[in-house]
Amino acid sequence: MCIHFGRCGGCTYLDIPYEEELKIKRELLESDLGEYASLLGEFHPAPITAAYRNKMELAFGDEGKDGCLALGMRKKRSMYEVATPTDCILICDDFKKIINYVLAFFRATQETFFHRKLHTGTLRHLTLRRGEFTGEILLMLSTTSTLKTPLKPFIEGLIALPIEGKIVGILHAANDGVADAVKNENITLLHGRDHYYENICNLKFKVSMFSFFQTNSRGAEVLYDVIKKFTGEGADAALDLYCGTGTISQVIASHYKKVVGVELIDEAILAARENAQLNNINNCEFFTGDVNDKVEAITPQGSYTIIVDPPRDGLHPKALEKISALSAERLIYVACKPKSMTRDLPILLQSGYTLEKIEAVDMFPRTPHVEAIAVLRRADT
Ligand code: SAH
Repeated sequence: MCIHFGRCGGCTYLDIPYEEELKIKRELLESDLGEYASLLGEFHPAPITAAYRNKMELAFGDEGKDGCLALGMRKKRSMYEVATPTDCILICDDFKKIINYVLAFFRATQETFFHRKLHTGTLRHLTLRRGEFTGEILLMLSTTSTLKTPLKPFIEGLIALPIEGKIVGILHAANDGVADAVKNENITLLHGRDHYYENICNLKFKVSMFSFFQTNSRGAEVLYDVIKKFTGEGADAALDLYCGTGTISQVIASHYKKVVGVELIDEAILAARENAQLNNINNCEFFTGDVNDKVEAITPQGSYTIIVDPPRDGLHPKALEKISALSAERLIYVACKPKSMTRDLPILLQSGYTLEKIEAVDMFPRTPHVEAIAVLRRADT
């Protein structure tokens, strides 16, 4: 199915039917959940299993030692070699056309890829994002500041590409750092706007280049439906911790009098506020802050639900301690790495919560990742 299978580091389950993959993933999840596995209920399959990624971060490199300029995913255990994803099943045709264009454009210039050890060359990364339901595409080229090639023809060529969606914004990042990371520094808007829109769960979301947004929009709808179901009859208020661009807050807003979202990245919070306005939602408030510090200061009055959707490492011990000390009626734990949740659960249970149910959503078909959602209730509320 893919010439890079086993080498690019992306897919794990490309050579088996999807039903088989789901079975394996459920077993792996049960093993990750350990003593809590018996509470695992529905395992929701992915709505689509191909071309689902709405974000790709690609690196410039070479195809093999001293080979042609390439643009793609880093090959496993390789510093410079990348696999150009011409037949990758996870990405859509529009992304492939853009990747091919960018590659052809720079192959026709004198530019070379930024060498991670020697620090020579100029071309670093290409980041692609798109609204699955809106067709809007946002892209960013990252290079060192020494790039010589004028970018005007590059932009014109991109806009003229015969693609299904629409390129709504092109950004350029000048990055002279040695770390192999896409940085939110020295960004110039070359064309259009610095954000795109996505429509999910009948709501509209503005997403900027560095804001977190679930990488599988159709899968996110399934995930958010499970969270909504787990909120039950709701309560006076909800705390949406690690809220990103405020998606969960807005999806569940109608179940609560008030929802408060907290997130570390200011850009995401500004987008969350704008998104709530766009959707005419007036009962959500969003604050920039570290969950480890802020959480007790924003505890609402009356009955409330806490939703946590932390990064892969799970809850920081400080946050775990503070959240355990709060007396929410319900706690919904959304885990992109279920093993981290399994580690955090005993502390929450010791503090008086009872684990009611766990469900899972296959957000990332063909890869080993699954999202688990647990609902906990406080026995004493
Ligand atoms: N719930 C959101 C995003 C969850 S991803 C959604 O469904 O779209 C996790 C988010 O946690 C990221 O946006 C990240 O920036 C944020 N984050 C990471 N550490 C944090 C911390 N200590 N305090 C607050 N937010 C944090």
